[in-house]
Amino acid sequence: MTRFFRFSLLAAAVLAFSACGGDRAESQPRPDPAKGPATPAPPADSHDIDRASIDAAVAPGDDFFHYANGAWLKKTEIPADRSTYGVWSVLFDRAQLRTRAILEQAAAGSARAGSDERKVGDYYATYMDEQTIEKKGLDPLRLVLQQIDAIADKRALATWIGQHLRADVDPLNMTNFHTDRLFGVWVAQNLNDPSHNVPYLLQGGLGLADRDYYVQPGSRMDSIRTAYREHIANMLKLAGVDKASERAAAIVDLERRIANTHATRTQSVDVLKANNPWTKDDFGRRAPGLDWNALLAGARLDGVPAIIVWHPGAFRGIAALVQSVPIDAWRDYLKFHEIDRYGRVLPKAFADESFAFYGKVLSGTPQQQDRWKRAVNSTNAALGEAVGRMYVQRHFPPTAKTQLEQMVGTIVAAFDRRLDALTWMSPKTKASAKAKLASLKIGIGYPDTWRDYSTLEIVRGDAVGNAGRAELFDYELRLDELRRAPDRSEWWLDPQTVNAVNLPIQNALNFPAAILEPPFYDPQASAAARYGSVGAIIGHEISHSFDDQGSQFDATGRLANWWTPEDLAHFKTASAKLVAQYNAYMPFSDLHENGQLTLSENIADVAGLSASYDAYHATGEQDDRTFFISYAQSWQSKEREQVARQQVLTDGHALDEYRADTVRNLDAWYGPFDVKPGERLYLSPDDRVRVW
Ligand SMILES: [Zn+2]
Repeated sequence: MTRFFRFSLLAAAVLAFSACGGDRAESQPRPDPAKGPATPAPPADSHDIDRASIDAAVAPGDDFFHYANGAWLKKTEIPADRSTYGVWSVLFDRAQLRTRAILEQAAAGSARAGSDERKVGDYYATYMDEQTIEKKGLDPLRLVLQQIDAIADKRALATWIGQHLRADVDPLNMTNFHTDRLFGVWVAQNLNDPSHNVPYLLQGGLGLADRDYYVQPGSRMDSIRTAYREHIANMLKLAGVDKASERAAAIVDLERRIANTHATRTQSVDVLKANNPWTKDDFGRRAPGLDWNALLAGARLDGVPAIIVWHPGAFRGIAALVQSVPIDAWRDYLKFHEIDRYGRVLPKAFADESFAFYGKVLSGTPQQQDRWKRAVNSTNAALGEAVGRMYVQRHFPPTAKTQLEQMVGTIVAAFDRRLDALTWMSPKTKASAKAKLASLKIGIGYPDTWRDYSTLEIVRGDAVGNAGRAELFDYELRLDELRRAPDRSEWWLDPQTVNAVNLPIQNALNFPAAILEPPFYDPQASAAARYGSVGAIIGHEISHSFDDQGSQFDATGRLANWWTPEDLAHFKTASAKLVAQYNAYMPFSDLHENGQLTLSENIADVAGLSASYDAYHATGEQDDRTFFISYAQSWQSKEREQVARQQVLTDGHALDEYRADTVRNLDAWYGPFDVKPGERLYLSPDDRVRVW
């Protein structure tokens, strides 16, 4: 519900491809700096909106996204090693090149053994050392594959599954619902008790991004399923497994059966359906067929009083499958996923096969990105805060932190004034909303305290081991949090990440250093340009606290209804209008946007833009044309059809084009662009959605 950009979805699709810690940025490949980007990015030093990108031949009222970006769209081609390309690529490129420099320096240096710098350098150097990776072949996975072969019965199977669960999902902050492990673990503050952390368990077990890939009919999905089966067979063959095609067919069939038990993506974002605290005994009773005692002991989750089961239906269904499906089918399934998950740190043949499927087939990206880019992503995933700490020392001046804190203050104040001005909301609900806004904790640039990596062992030359130990280290940190009180200042994004996030149960926001950069944040740009871009980003994240999801949490992060029934009814009516507005967008003739799935983001876009607009006017300036064009240009992007389709099916964010077009909900947009009834984006005043 809460990320600004959609990047973690794309990671979900390439998870197996990028599973060494879940390299989120894999799907945002960047051009080789030696070659330069395929299309020159707008200069970061113009301190203005990007006037050269405007297509004045398009009527703003017909298509605002193409009006603001049409000239850029015409001249831009997506680079071969990317699935998408856009204005944020400038920020990505910058952050990635800076990170590369940090990592290469660390790799070449002689920092003290055991220091963060040494670990970061060793991790990166090991990932880059293809010769050693080739030489080792599949050896790094031999032990785990033997362990899978030795699984003799269903109890041992449950133990193994439990021992290999990782903290690889995050339903509320990053809205990452995908794991190829049979279940995903998330540790966070209890929905029902702000004073304690609790484990959450989510459905998992699919190699493809979502159940829809398995259950939707049609030739497009059929061909993806066929390609997936071939990919499984190819990976098994590379690993020397016999009867690879036969086993691959059985694995796809098992995953199809798992997919049939899964909740849909739209159901997954409904937190009320997810709030199911189960005791240890409940598991056996409510989801019979799986030895839950063994599984929870394996996962070291057997000592907690309760676990919140996000997808009870899938737990029931998967447990029954564990009982009914023969054990050798499970062994094949587990083996494939171990190999697939580490494909990128195995010899080239495995990495290339991974890319051929996850990159080419699923994302439509023709060319694999350079190894150093993959190494940067993987190091970020494994040691993100260690890298981030070095990053902000070099690239995030205290002046930026101060200025942005001031800007955030103006937008929070504008949002507060908007709350005061709401005519439909009762004083009681209003007071709760204002209390929530007042206690919102806003993190700018980087966390107050840094993660301690002292117990994580990084070994030069052991790429698979490093990736595996980093995932285990992360899991153990999360288990440790079960023994500690919730920490509202915890960060969920690394400082070198180009994104922003609202953390509903922490009632907090993270704005990493790497997104607080030109052209989004340019201290020398006009106020109109700044409030239209970074201001809208800030407003968007603030608004998530009050979207259809966020508004279900009170100021302490408890899942609690603080609404009067009348106020809630009004809010739902306004939301329903927004659902209908987005359902009507047709990116492809056979596919429309999912207004319900993207509702949280769409509410946050409208409310955030409105708050930023008010904050901008409070500066005394009134250049509304620049403000709105700056906003639409912050969505300047292109994506390949495969990725766009995948996003519409599985992501909480609408396509960038429609996010830009949400200006149509603001009265202030109509005058400066002379928008008239009859134009495609025109909405009568009654149809404009004003949620906050
Ligand atoms: Zn968002």
